[in-house]
This record gives sequence, C-alpha cells and structure tokens, in this order.
Amino acid sequence: MTNLSHSTVWVDDQLVDTNQAQLHIASSAVLYGLSVYTVFPVNKTPDGMAAFRLRDHFNRLLESARIVGIDTFAPAWTYARFEEAVRQLAKANKLEDDVFVRATVHVDELVPGTRSRGLKSILTMFIYPAKPIIPQNGARLKTSVWRRVPDNAIPARAKVNGAYVNSVLGKQDALDSGYDDCVFLDGHGHVCELSAANIFIVKNGHLITPSTTSDILEGINRRTVIEIAKDQGILVEERTVDLTELYIADEAFACGTSAFIAPITDVDARQIGVEVPGIITGKIKQIHNQLLHGSENSTQYLTQLS
Ligand code: PMP
Repeated sequence: MTNLSHSTVWVDDQLVDTNQAQLHIASSAVLYGLSVYTVFPVNKTPDGMAAFRLRDHFNRLLESARIVGIDTFAPAWTYARFEEAVRQLAKANKLEDDVFVRATVHVDELVPGTRSRGLKSILTMFIYPAKPIIPQNGARLKTSVWRRVPDNAIPARAKVNGAYVNSVLGKQDALDSGYDDCVFLDGHGHVCELSAANIFIVKNGHLITPSTTSDILEGINRRTVIEIAKDQGILVEERTVDLTELYIADEAFACGTSAFIAPITDVDARQIGVEVPGIITGKIKQIHNQLLHGSENSTQYLTQLS
C-alpha cells in the first residue's frame, strides 16, 4: 500500500497509522528544517522485495547527522536496528510494486534555539510511489539563477531538510522558465548538480562528473554509476566541470534515486547528443536498472525484505 493517507509509517520506535504520526510545531525540525534524511528504493526482484544499498543510505544518514551536529541519532540506532525497522515497515505495507522510502531524523526538541547538540531526535519513515522526478526520455535543463549552497554555508554533502529550500528555488525557477530541472553552479561557475540528482557527461567515450568537493550531495547512485563504468572499462574523471563542457558533451545524464538514470537532451537551449538515450547512457541505464531489480551481480547491493 503506497497511498500516503492510508499507510503505516515508522515513528521513533514503532509503526503507527499515518494519521497518528505527528511532529510538534515548536520542534527544531519544523522551526529550522533541522532534520536529515535519505530516500532509498525498495523494488520488486525475482526473490521478493529488496532495498537497494540500504547500508550506504544508513551511513549517509549518520554522516549527515554528524555534519549538522545532531548527536543523539548515532548512539540510538545501529544498522541492524535500522534494517529491522525497514523490514517491519515493508511488511506492514504489504509492498508489491517499486516504492521509495523516505527516512528522516528529525530534531523534535521544543524551542531549544538555534543549536543542535544533545537534543532529542526521532527517526521517521514513510513509503511512497517510485515516480521519477524528471523525464526519463530526455530532460531539458536550465542553468539556475541560484547558486548551490557551498560547503562553508550549508554543506551540500549533508542531506539536510532545511537546505532543500535551495533545491526548491532552483527547480521552481527552471519550471517557471519551461525547463524540467536546473543545473546548479557553484560560486565560481562550475557545474555542481541538479536540484535532486547528480550529473555526468560523456566526452570521447569517457565519463566526467563533478568531484565530491564540488558542493554536491555524494549520491549513492553516482557511486553506483562509477562502479558500473569501471566494470565496463569506461574511464571516469571526477573533477571540476565547466558549464561549457556540458554544452559540448557527447551525452549527459542525471542520476539519483528519484531521477533514476535520466538522459539530458538540452541545457540552456543547447542540444546535447543525437540519440536518446546516447549509447553509453543507455548502457549504464540498463545495467543500473538490472542492479536495482536483481541480477546476478546485484546481490552485494540488495537487502531482501520479503
Ligand atoms: N543530489 C541531490 C541534491 C539530491 O537530493 C539527490 C537525491 N538524494 C542526489 C544528488 C542523488 O543522490 P542518491 O543517488 O543518493 O539518491
């Protein structure tokens, strides 16, 4: 069941009906967006429903909390406890189709002021349909009028709820201008990422992607794409990327849990590539999809839930 108004959700240490799930209006989560989160897929595989790279998602949640200074999550939650909660959530919702799970650590202490340490936090999780956030058959992007939040302001490396106002600004600006999503640049004009996905370009048979020090979220699918490419003998460069490199790319694609692998066909009205998807994008998309849904190589990535 993935109808959000009739589902079972996880709050703190138990499953509850979604209509019983509450977050106080005076909590830091609500007042400051002081929450960290991740979204991971649970997909149909030949052996039942399985979560993709669950341990990596848990680790990133821990790292986001650590960066922001939410220090009550790590002592309370081991990976084993987290996996068990996901298992119970999946079972209670009788999953049959591919879904996304949003797992959030909220600081729910009431009116503690603008600080983060020693404050009560709770883990919440809910399930929703696995719908892509950008077109899968050719996304059109616009350079954002907004810059990506830099590491020394609100680190993009941490998946902080409040920081997603930056993504909302970029995405809405792109939609208002008739595009599907934005390309965020950093303060120096280098390419970072989309509003909620990482970006790769293909040039002369190589993959190029902004490095992890380019004010990006360290995407779990970005890591998967790099692993797929290495396995296929495709060279990957992680480095600073100029906007004009994107303009003259042979192919470009976005990747992420909710973007999947999405070919990019247009950036600031410059056409990219000739076929959709391009040869390398198509190959990576196919392998990525197999890994998500269970193939002989994907056992290391999957946690069977049923
Ligand atoms: N960048 C941003 C800003 C995101 O919100 C996301 C989605 N989580 C990604 C990249 C892709 O990350 P992942 O592959 O872990 O979903």
